[in-house]
Amino acid sequence: MKPTPYSLTDLRGVGPALAEKLGRLGVQHPADLLFVLPFRYEDRTRIVPLGSLVPGQRAVVEAEVEITEVVYRGRRNLLCRIADGTGALTLRFFYFSRAQQQGLARGKKVRCYGDVRKGSTGLEMVHPEYRVLSANAPQALENHLTPVYPSTDGVQQGRLRSLIGQVLDRRDLLLTDLLPPELLVKHQLPTLAAALRYLHRPPADVQLDELASGRHPAQRRLIIEELLAHHLSLRKIRQRASHLQALPLSPDNSQINAFLDNLGFQLTGDQKSCIKVIRSDLAAAHPMMRLVQGDVGCGKTVVAAVAALAATGAGTQVAIMAPTELLAEQHRDNFAAWLGPLDVNVAWLSGSLKSAQRKQTYAAIASGEAQVIIGTHALFQEAVEYACLGLVIVDEQHRFGVHQRMSLMDKGSAGRHRPHQLVMTATPIPRTLAMTLYADLDVSVIREMPPGRQPVKTVAVSDTRRGEVVARVQKALESGQRAYWVCPLVEESELLSYQDAESTHAMLRESLKGTSVGLIHGRMRAEEKERIMKAFAAGEMQVLVATTVIEVGVDVPEATLMIIENAERMGLAQLHQLRGRVGRGNQQSNCVLLYSSAVKLSQHARQRIDVMRETNDGFVIAQKDLELRGPGEVLGKRQTGLQQMRVADLGRDAWLLPEVQQLSDTLLKNHAEAADNIIRRWIAQADDYGNV
Ligand code: ADP
Ligand code: MG
Repeated sequence: MKPTPYSLTDLRGVGPALAEKLGRLGVQHPADLLFVLPFRYEDRTRIVPLGSLVPGQRAVVEAEVEITEVVYRGRRNLLCRIADGTGALTLRFFYFSRAQQQGLARGKKVRCYGDVRKGSTGLEMVHPEYRVLSANAPQALENHLTPVYPSTDGVQQGRLRSLIGQVLDRRDLLLTDLLPPELLVKHQLPTLAAALRYLHRPPADVQLDELASGRHPAQRRLIIEELLAHHLSLRKIRQRASHLQALPLSPDNSQINAFLDNLGFQLTGDQKSCIKVIRSDLAAAHPMMRLVQGDVGCGKTVVAAVAALAATGAGTQVAIMAPTELLAEQHRDNFAAWLGPLDVNVAWLSGSLKSAQRKQTYAAIASGEAQVIIGTHALFQEAVEYACLGLVIVDEQHRFGVHQRMSLMDKGSAGRHRPHQLVMTATPIPRTLAMTLYADLDVSVIREMPPGRQPVKTVAVSDTRRGEVVARVQKALESGQRAYWVCPLVEESELLSYQDAESTHAMLRESLKGTSVGLIHGRMRAEEKERIMKAFAAGEMQVLVATTVIEVGVDVPEATLMIIENAERMGLAQLHQLRGRVGRGNQQSNCVLLYSSAVKLSQHARQRIDVMRETNDGFVIAQKDLELRGPGEVLGKRQTGLQQMRVADLGRDAWLLPEVQQLSDTLLKNHAEAADNIIRRWIAQADDYGNV
């Protein structure tokens, strides 16, 4: 017999108001409640003797009240001493009623649940949950672990537990298992119902640390399904993109050839092959979605410029978006210098434009007069209307998420046509992760560095020898070199880093007489930053003291010396990015990692510094970074650009990705409908994914 469906309001305690609240949390049907998963468990299945309690433990205890009294310790405290023959414990309350005080009379039996901590007179529990037991009605203990749910907007823990309990008590959970049975067998996964039952009510004898590490089969089942949902959704985007229309962009080669002839250098093999695929992508009638991955300094900008020329040559516009104003400005200057002589109109759009200028730029974009438009997020604001956007280029894409990529595509769509997309990143990530995070993109890798590049020589020096380093900089400057002196972010405080940079600046000005020492930091206005960068690029300034604003993309090939203060505080990725600012020309460059002598270097810090001394290869460094920190740390939520996940944690669960990819292939091939349903089940904005 088929069970009859029931609705939320059929559950005890759910009226229209609560049903609506739940609806806002994405819970439409009772079965949806089962996907609100506990993030930890409490063990209320057994009573712990007071004598064996240790601080930090959470436990159920049962004992007799010896004495209850109100004491004054700065404020009123109710203290209740309980004992069970094995030991004693104090219950401490800061808020209490008279009735409560009277209820805890000497000789009463109480059962408490709470955190054990060390108090002034032995172990205590502060504000435990407790119940006074009546002598002749024994209270049952829980027979499974107690789930603790994430606090959800206005729905209380106890209420949530009761509702989920009611659903679980039904014989049939009315859940559709979206993974076909043969795949469950093949991958040794429990059914969805079994997994959910287990996770809401783990048996008393389960190992809590196994659950905490996310490795239990019940968890694996859900983690895999959720990762699968994300992976599938990205692949869907890609599939759909291949059905969308874009303007095929295949101009004649004259302009591109002229550009390449004037460059003054030959493209590397990797640059050439990358350009070749991009041009063939652009010539297609559906949007290109390509990621170019290449280490700092490998020359991605030239590749972007050729793509831009292909688009303008075919009569469309190009939007180039960078994550910071500084980087956007640099692109603007490069592109103006490269494309200006070819009569391509390069426009600039940033948040800091004055309103009259902005209006003018908007008009030029709307009329089509502006052909290449460079800027920050401002490029995709409401008010910007493109006459005919053929190509969107996003630099340093790891700072933008999938959703931004998608909205970008919507924004740019002119009638039936979507713009082509080219995204560029200098953050190398391992292949399995890339295949998951960028499943909506085709990936090209540039591994080859332009010829003549010499690896940056790196040394580590204690800051007690700062004087020697200054002397060395002095010498380098005399022979015409230019130097960066970087002060890291201090504990995320911009003010402190600014002060740090300022005092370093003052020190260097004092020591390096006769040279021009500049200062650049995040608190400066855009024009000011630009003026200083220009002066440094032009050689009017020989030393640039900087906070980490220069991390991304800044290109001054003549700079050959980089000093990094407090290098021990920085992560490998950041050190590598910073060091990538030198070694961009064909002169030998040097990097000095200054580390603080104030505290002993941690083992990780020492390892990081060693890695930096040993290699310049971004892919090797990324791999080391992963080994040292694990993928969760390396990627971070922001970098993955994926929405918050419910059970999966990419850092912890990356080892499951190959399995996820396999499953995803099979589903797309043989169970297309199941694939759609999995996406819908796990991803809140599933519909947006369809609207690309
Ligand atoms: P990134 O990939 O980090 O964005 P850039 O595009 O800024 O690197 O290039 C770094 C520097 O290398 C620039 O000065 C650029 O002009 C130069 N460059 C790029 N390609 C080549 C090449 N094939 N030969 C010589 N120099 C090149
Ligand atoms: Mg770049």
